[in-house]
Amino acid sequence: MDVQRFLKPMQEISLDDKVGKTQFKIDSGHPHMKIDPSLCVSCSDKPCLYVCPVRNFRLDEAGKIVMSWEGCIECGGAIVACQRLGRRGLTWEYPRGGFGVRHIRG
Ligand code: SF4
Repeated sequence: MDVQRFLKPMQEISLDDKVGKTQFKIDSGHPHMKIDPSLCVSCSDKPCLYVCPVRNFRLDEAGKIVMSWEGCIECGGAIVACQRLGRRGLTWEYPRGGFGVRHIRG
């Protein structure tokens, strides 16, 4: 089969252009991920701080984890890191149908 007949070369897109094509439909009152502060406080490495590409995890002034679920791009990095390297204080599920991140093509 002549694959090149069906596939076009990928276009280079800048990060700004990619982010500009990302939309969120926030399911107010129904966060699709939650943290258990009682587990996070004893998590020494806090890998969620380092793996989330959109930085939805941060430390507050008191050194506690603060999470913003609304801007989650659903890559799954934080849940894998938390399960494998953290204290399993993060729970995550896909947003309800129609909610969450949406990547606009074109
Ligand atoms: S990796 Fe998991 S347990 Fe550790 S601080 Fe982050 S969310 Fe909490």
